[in-house]
Amino acid sequence: MFRGLFAAASLLSLALASPALAETKAPSQKAKNVIVFLADAGGVPSVNAASLLGYGQPLKLHVQQWPHLGLSETSPVDAFVSDSANGMSAIMTGVKTHNGVISQGPDGARGKADGAPTKTLLEYAEEHGLRTGVVTSQPITDATPAATYAHANDRGKWGEIFQQALTPRFGDGVDVLFGTGRDKIGRQLTAAGTGFDQLAKAHNRPIYAKLEDAPAANARPIVVTEDEIDTRAATLRALDLLKGSPKGYLLVVEWDAHTDDPKEGLENIVNFDKLIAEIEKRVDLKDTLLLFTADHSFGLQVDGGKRGEPLLEGYDAWKAGERRGDIVRLKNVVVNRTHTGEEVVALATGAGAQGVRGYFPNTHLFEVVMDAWGWKK
Ligand SMILES: [Zn+2]
Repeated sequence: MFRGLFAAASLLSLALASPALAETKAPSQKAKNVIVFLADAGGVPSVNAASLLGYGQPLKLHVQQWPHLGLSETSPVDAFVSDSANGMSAIMTGVKTHNGVISQGPDGARGKADGAPTKTLLEYAEEHGLRTGVVTSQPITDATPAATYAHANDRGKWGEIFQQALTPRFGDGVDVLFGTGRDKIGRQLTAAGTGFDQLAKAHNRPIYAKLEDAPAANARPIVVTEDEIDTRAATLRALDLLKGSPKGYLLVVEWDAHTDDPKEGLENIVNFDKLIAEIEKRVDLKDTLLLFTADHSFGLQVDGGKRGEPLLEGYDAWKAGERRGDIVRLKNVVVNRTHTGEEVVALATGAGAQGVRGYFPNTHLFEVVMDAWGWKK
């Protein structure tokens, strides 16, 4: 018995000496680069359903293979259910606030009074000399991307938010900015007495209307499109532009995952997941942290169905019909078309990923990234 134990202990120390196992035991390496993948409204049930839709089976998404997992609580300071403004502000700044408020403290009041600006991970990265990028399938001034680079008491102030991308508080500001929303942002800029052309001239940064228009020579391109943007192409382009950065980079990618239209929303998650797998092949996890999470959950649930049968049976009839009302009732899926209050999943791999575990408030994700970089607030 004693002898057996001794032998087992020797085996264990031998095993620990082997590089593969020693790596999992060694104190984690610091991250040089961080990529945050934000599935907007991609709650746990939507992630589950995306795997069922995309692969006919659970647990088939790439991110579902990542080793570090936690449940991130998303509520604002004064309610149970979050919007994107509070949800993303809390992740980016480590401070929860009110719905509608972009990276300002809870002393702010939506549309009425500014709160103290809360410093974002992107601002910390700029201050430390990293290169930074924000890519979104949505308008570049929408609440989620805005919370990375701007501070505003109302998420609707797109003109003000966009101008802040060009007037940074730290470093030289966000280097790569790809998203949509050109028409509405343009109208708000006009109302404020400015416009894309004036801002481009004043800051010596062209603001392209298409991804293809940004020349390879421009290391800090801003693209604001009228229509849809190719989120995959935009993300790969952003990574190419940032990856050579000597001090590292922060890249934040948002892909909408609202399931008001269940097929569209779930397909977005499947495609986002494929993009994440592609990105992972292009980075070195020894010095790069990859984090996947959502800003808040959404009321989709799978409540029926059999393996081998289509998840979204009845979708075409629903789509062809009037599509009115708050509830979508398909054979196997029900969608209460609103944000919901339960925790969202946080998944991580790479340098500094081990801080993602257990239940925590979403502000913990800010700490995880700061710890991964080894920075103090
Ligand atoms: Zn959201």
